[in-house]
Order: sequence, then structure tokens, then C-alpha cells
Amino acid sequence: MPLRLAAQPFAKQITAQATEIAARAIAAAHGRSPEIAVVIATSEPDSLLYVDRLLKQVSAIGLAGRRVDLGTTASEAEILAALAALSSDRNVAGIILQSPLPSGVSREIVAAAIAPGKDIDGITHQNAERLADGTHDDSLLPATAAAVMELLRAYEVPLSGRPAVVVGRSAIVGRPVAHLLELAGAHVEVAHSKTPDLGVVTRPAEVLVVAAGVRGLVRGEHVSPGAVVIDVGIHPSGDTIVGDVDAESVEAALGASGGLSPVPGGVGPMTSAVLALHAAQAAERLVRERA
Ligand code: NDP
Repeated sequence: MPLRLAAQPFAKQITAQATEIAARAIAAAHGRSPEIAVVIATSEPDSLLYVDRLLKQVSAIGLAGRRVDLGTTASEAEILAALAALSSDRNVAGIILQSPLPSGVSREIVAAAIAPGKDIDGITHQNAERLADGTHDDSLLPATAAAVMELLRAYEVPLSGRPAVVVGRSAIVGRPVAHLLELAGAHVEVAHSKTPDLGVVTRPAEVLVVAAGVRGLVRGEHVSPGAVVIDVGIHPSGDTIVGDVDAESVEAALGASGGLSPVPGGVGPMTSAVLALHAAQAAERLVRERA
């Protein structure tokens, strides 16, 4: 069996660190907690469940959460106005814009209203550019991309000089992961939906990150023995979830010298912990700037 790159106990350690930073920020603000705002314009059950969990996590580390529900018919102008108001609110430290948005609303356009210093899930153009040129602030990275890197760090997977492949090139996962792997010294290739033969690109990978949004896309024939595979995918399956990787055939192909992150229990909980850390760091930054 390959190594199982589970989020625990590392996610718990990151959450404990977030709790400490949040407590420091609240003490410096004379007991008043900065707020983390989550903006919603959807009624999709999975998305609302995610928001509930996120706000619970924010409150578990001691910070105040603010749920801003704009309704499913919110216009681009209304979402822009809400994000601009939160950006200039002196008590809001961090802003998360929940997906999906109502049809016709451009995520890129509305994200421009988020103050880059409060963009704790790294969706603004400014923070994406800073990542691309390597001048980013770790606390403003897209949380899922940062979580992938945390898992690799936690299990001491060497990256410098190694061939790495990212399947997927979305602005929130695939692209930032590719930048971060490159910054860590890996030689990175990116595969996407137009890649003619996925296996030709993925088989040379010693580190493979899969964020395609296609259930079970990567199978045993796509990987080489000894590779480390990080599965970002989330797909409901009965009362559990499965990933973008077909775990059974991939585990068999990787062998004992390889590694695979589990779904559930891998990137998902690590992402929650990283987002909590970003929230706490933003709270501390806000209190420092207000002083
Ligand atoms: P997107 O749909 O935005 O992007 C998917 C990417 O995968 C695109 O770049 C697309 O290529 C590529 N792709 C699609 N089909 C194939 C294929 N057959 N072969 C190769 N590449 C393909 O998804 P996200 O990046 O937002 O999310 C990816 C997955 O990660 C989803 O399952 C999502 O649920 C999960 N996720 C998990 C999170 C977590 O915390 N664990 C957080 C966020 C997402 P192209 O660009 O050509 O269209």
C-alpha cells in the first residue's frame, strides 16, 4: 500500500496555530474580534453546507464570522457594492466570496471589489499576479492550492528538481498549485481538458496533483510506481465523497514506495485549516494596521 497523505494530525496543528494568532489579535483589539465575512448568492445545498462549516471553523478559532446572504437573484452591481462595503469596513479582516455566483455574474469582475489585503482565499487579480511573479504573501494564497503544498510539506515530499504534473488549470486551484510547485523548484507540466493523451503527460510525474473536477479521471494506467499523488477532487457519492482519482487502481499502480492523499480526509480538511490560518493572520494584520 502507498503512503496515505492524510490531513491529520497536521491540519489540527495549523488550526491550533490559527487559534493562538486569533487570540493575540482579539487581545490587541481590547476583546473585540475582527470579523471574517462570507458572501453568498446561491441556494445550492452543498455550497451552503460548506459555508456553515466555514463559519463554524471561524468561530472555533475564536473569530467572529459574518454571513452576508445576497440572495440568488443578486446582480453584479449588488455583489460589487457588498464587497466594496466590506472592503472598507474597519472591522472586517477577511472576505470570502462563495461559489457559485448567479448566472451572468462574472467572478473576475466582482472579485475586483475585494481589497487585496482582505482576500484570504486569493481570488483577486492582484494576489494572482503576485503569486505568478513570486512576490505573494502566504496568508493571501488560494486556500486549496496552499493546502496541497502543506500536505506535500507535512509528508516531506521533495520537490526541488523533480518532475511534477498538475491536472487542471483553474484560477483557484490548478494554476496557483503549478506556480507554487515551480517556486519550490519542481519542473512543472500542466494538463487540461484539451490535453490529447493524459497518460503521456502524467506518467513521468513524480508528484501529481489532480484538480480536474472529473470523478475517477486518473486511473492506474496514468501513474508510475513511486509517484506521490494529491487528489483535490470532491464528488458526493452516497453518504461520503470521492475524488478525481480512482483510488483502487492508482494505489495498486503506485506500490509501497508511492503516496496518495485520501478523499475524504486529505485536501479538504487541510483547506479548512489553511483558511482558518489565513483568517487569523488577516485579523492580526487588521488590528495592527488600525493601531
Ligand atoms: P474547474 O472546473 O474550475 O477546473 C477544472 C480544470 O480541469 C480545468 O482546467 C479543465 O480544463 C481541467 N479538466 C477538465 N476535464 C479534464 C480532463 N478530462 N482531463 C484533463 N483536464 C481536465 O474546477 P476547480 O479547479 O474549481 O476544481 C477541481 C476539483 O477540485 C473539483 O472536483 C472541485 O470540487 C475540487 N475542489 C476541492 C476543494 C477542496 O478544498 N478540496 C476546493 C476547490 C475545488 P480546461 O481549462 O481546458 O477546461
